[in-house]
Amino acid sequence: MSQNLINTLNSKLPQTQCQKCGYPSCLEYAKAINTNNEDTNRCIPGGEETHQLINQIQKTGKSNQRLELSQKGEYKSAKIIENQCIGCTLCIRACPFDAIVGSKKRMHTVLTDHCTGCELCVPVCPVDCIEIRKLSDLKEEGNSHADDIINSSYHNLSQKNLVRYQEASNRRKRENIRKDTHETREIRHTAQKDFDDRSPGSKKLLISAAIKEADARIKSREKLSQFRKIRPEV
Ligand code: SF4
Ligand code: SF4
Ligand code: SF4
Repeated sequence: MSQNLINTLNSKLPQTQCQKCGYPSCLEYAKAINTNNEDTNRCIPGGEETHQLINQIQKTGKSNQRLELSQKGEYKSAKIIENQCIGCTLCIRACPFDAIVGSKKRMHTVLTDHCTGCELCVPVCPVDCIEIRKLSDLKEEGNSHADDIINSSYHNLSQKNLVRYQEASNRRKRENIRKDTHETREIRHTAQKDFDDRSPGSKKLLISAAIKEADARIKSREKLSQFRKIRPEV
């Protein structure tokens, strides 16, 4: 596996992260092309131009400026029919770009300039109120962000998508760590409550069992450290 080639392949994909290629992200598809000889025509939003460029890179290890300039990419955008939204927040969790804003039981809306039209929010909506729209239609409705996307180059757009995707992924990771910490605190709190509710006799038994366990752990660690002094390679 060549990391440089994977990075080059990935940088030419549209970064909508739509999973239409059958992989969970553009990067995973790039890895599959490089390591498993995956077909080079699986990126639907990238279209034929991207297919040809990916082919060229896979065969020669190099990109081609003429093919790069021909890349268009099929970008769209989601739009929520706001008066039908029940505020369940499921679409927020499905969006890899943090492109949907709203809170529980409140109307949600899509930030067009963050949205890549990946469609991942559509199947999770229980009331079917998310539409995928052409950027040209949104532009006609006066959406200036749609106009900006239409006027962006393929390269700038895919790089902007990649940065937004990484930012959203990092935010999710931080949130999961916070959630874990909260859960650990809850577990500790429940264990403490369970201990407090016990009779004095049961508390005594628990403490003495815990001391024995700690003693055994200390002894086993001491043995291991003595052993390592004799056999440092272990
Ligand atoms: S944009 Fe293309 S490569 Fe990226 S996830 Fe979608 S289909 Fe796959
Ligand atoms: S709003 Fe929907 S279509 Fe747009 S990026 Fe998020 S999940 Fe994809
Ligand atoms: S999934 Fe549908 S109903 Fe739920 S918040 Fe999103 S748009 Fe509204």
